Amino acid sequence: MRILKFGGKSLGNGQGIKNVISIVQSKYKHEEAIALVVSARGDSTDWLGSMLERARKMKDYQKDFVAFKDYQCAPSLGWNYDGIFEQIASILERTKLLGCYNQATKDLLLAQGEILSALVVSRLLNDNGVPTQFVDSRHFFITDDLFGSANIYDELSRCLTKRYFEFFPQGVVPVVTGFLASTGSHVTTTLGRNGSNYSASLLAKYLGVKGVESYTDVDGIFTADPNVDTDAQLIPKLTFEEAEIIAKSGAGILHEKTIQPLKDGKIPLHILNSFNLNSTGTLIEARCLNKIIQDE
Ligand code: ASP
Ligand code: MG
Repeated sequence: MRILKFGGKSLGNGQGIKNVISIVQSKYKHEEAIALVVSARGDSTDWLGSMLERARKMKDYQKDFVAFKDYQCAPSLGWNYDGIFEQIASILERTKLLGCYNQATKDLLLAQGEILSALVVSRLLNDNGVPTQFVDSRHFFITDDLFGSANIYDELSRCLTKRYFEFFPQGVVPVVTGFLASTGSHVTTTLGRNGSNYSASLLAKYLGVKGVESYTDVDGIFTADPNVDTDAQLIPKLTFEEAEIIAKSGAGILHEKTIQPLKDGKIPLHILNSFNLNSTGTLIEARCLNKIIQDE
């Protein structure tokens, strides 16, 4: 099995989501088995967070909320996500009335971005010849209650994940929510911003897959920020250790905890651009001949 992880930028409305559907269609035809892990689409997480802040300041957020709903529904017009929108509305209303929220409430609200994303992607793929099933990662990723950046209970999560997927129907592609987990008492938690990469590596390790492909909107990891430095060069290969240094330096492309589960399972991670499939991306694996980053 191989895990395909799609970031928010890759899943945006229009060309983004279209490319994702066609990438998955072609992988489905050629791979023995795949599982998807998805982030919230576009800027949904920031969007939800900013509506929550407006509500806390007792400001109006209705216009934003209407735009948010339109954005979520655009790729799959006619499908009904009312239950999720009602939950979002009720959190925002309560926050506006009280003028405050707690971190658990914020995690539950942000979680709706990934839930909507996995539902939309799963349904679109079903309609385009790829049988899928929506999978809520809160069933098997169990954490402490450090809301906003919860810590995984590794052994428990591994057992539950294996058990969950043991009876998963063959030939059906799981579309798993990134970023989300829950406490032992079923309270929603999140794994930290950009945490969907970490979700993908945890799933990869627990299921013992042969590789993870992580799709984003840039060609891979560069020697510097290509938007700022015109001399920035794409790094074709990195070792896990080198990637860890980059992740810990705060590069948004890699969540800090992403590498360890892959290192544990010796599972390569290939970072690719869903808008430019001609690029070879950055491959992160155990050994690497072109050592680009020297140990400090
Ligand atoms: N949607 C979450 C975020 O924006 C998680 C992710 O994108 O990986 O931080
Ligand atoms: Mg995101």
